[in-house]
Amino acid sequence: MQVICCVCHKTKNHKGWAKQAARSGGRLSHGYCPQCYKQMMKRVENFFVMNGCGKSA
Ligand SMILES: [Zn+2]
Repeated sequence: MQVICCVCHKTKNHKGWAKQAARSGGRLSHGYCPQCYKQMMKRVENFFVMNGCGKSA
């Protein structure tokens, strides 16, 4: 099963993550490449900060 980054659409191969077309007919698993994962985590952190989560009511 191939893993494709749902943000930048890179696919994972044996060498790592590369921008390439996913093999047709193969099963795809959507995930995040390390770069987009980092950005996503940053965004999630900002989201919680903006919404005041973590503060005691
Ligand atoms: Zn990505």
